[in-house]
Amino acid sequence: MALIRIEGAEKRYGSTVALDGVSLRVEAGDCLGLVGESGSGKTTLLRSINRLTDLDAGRVLVRGESVDTLDPVSLRRSIGYVQQDGGLIPHWTCLANASLVPRLLGRGDATGHGRRSLEAVGLGPDTFADRYPRELSGGQRQRVAIARAIAAGPDILLMDEPFGALDAITRSEAQEAFIALRKSEGVTAVFVTHDLGEAVLVATHIAVMRAGGVALEAPARELADSATGYAAELLEKSGVAL
Ligand code: ADP
Ligand code: MG
Repeated sequence: MALIRIEGAEKRYGSTVALDGVSLRVEAGDCLGLVGESGSGKTTLLRSINRLTDLDAGRVLVRGESVDTLDPVSLRRSIGYVQQDGGLIPHWTCLANASLVPRLLGRGDATGHGRRSLEAVGLGPDTFADRYPRELSGGQRQRVAIARAIAAGPDILLMDEPFGALDAITRSEAQEAFIALRKSEGVTAVFVTHDLGEAVLVATHIAVMRAGGVALEAPARELADSATGYAAELLEKSGVAL
């Protein structure tokens, strides 16, 4: 069973068409890389999965259930979400940030979950638990954002250009950490990026978006073979050797 199914998703903002009939599915354990230029609809699509955006038409099924029928707050707490800018609470420590969702869920040992998730993203809690986001590097801040997203052990993780603002070396380390984490936790993920090279590295499947639609969909390994038209152009621009 597909853990996430998107069927004919449509969304407009005034006269802007953000999503123009998108259908996609993500099987349990897979990572879908959503690639496309700025404005192609990636964030809108991602946020329709946890109902931060409601669609005009079409539907999204999570774990076999239409999200329209689910309580949006419970749905959001059951899905890890890393926003484009990390979205950490600046006046909370790393541990308080990382423990947020287990605490909201009323879990007994919220802090224990937070510490374990900091550990899982490679931030030793003895060193990092009491630091504030401003006391971290950009890469470390994004790791805390990921720790927060996984602390309650969600089966689904949504990532919106999580490493977009990082320098090349930090980014490469963060990508490796994410790959290792996805394997160890067995989490199903949707990973948004405008960098096809990054998508090919971290994802199992790729959907290339253009102007609110899916221009191409392929297993990450086969992308090179099916690269025609816009995907070839993106491939070329990304400079990735496949
Ligand atoms: P991407 O993440 O690929 O850059 P988005 O999903 O953010 O694309 O945006 C798709 C289109 O929808 C863009 O043209 C964007 O300007 C528009 N859009 C997104 N969110 C809003 C909003 N809240 N209000 C108005 N327009 C929006
Ligand atoms: Mg976006």
